Amino acid sequence: MKTENCPCGRNKSYDECCSLIHKDIFLAKTAEDLMRSRYTAFVKANGDYLMQSQHSSTRKPTTKHDTVRWAMSVKWHGLEIIDAVRGSESDEQGTVEFKAFFMERFMNRSIHENSVFIKENGHWVYFGEAG
Ligand SMILES: [Zn+2]
Repeated sequence: MKTENCPCGRNKSYDECCSLIHKDIFLAKTAEDLMRSRYTAFVKANGDYLMQSQHSSTRKPTTKHDTVRWAMSVKWHGLEIIDAVRGSESDEQGTVEFKAFFMERFMNRSIHENSVFIKENGHWVYFGEAG
């Protein structure tokens, strides 16, 4: 039986890929790793990880419930990484441009964002959309 690839698009199973990062965020070595793990957290409606992987200054714990409800209400179709600038293991900041595809209320939609990631407490977190 073929194991399904991780939702983030890497050629590994979820258990060998983003699941490990969801249990230990320090395993996201690059901004792109963190980006992919956040996409998978949306697919899995993992609100705790979405909170943990967002910078403390832009995180809104009050939105966790709504985020989880929304994530569960859409059908996720995939993630495309368009570009990643810096964000390597030795960097403190980086940007990742991505498209996330999903179906919401029977409509195919996508989010296209250039996101800023920075290190907080020694691991990568999502900061917000690049201004
Ligand atoms: Zn993954």
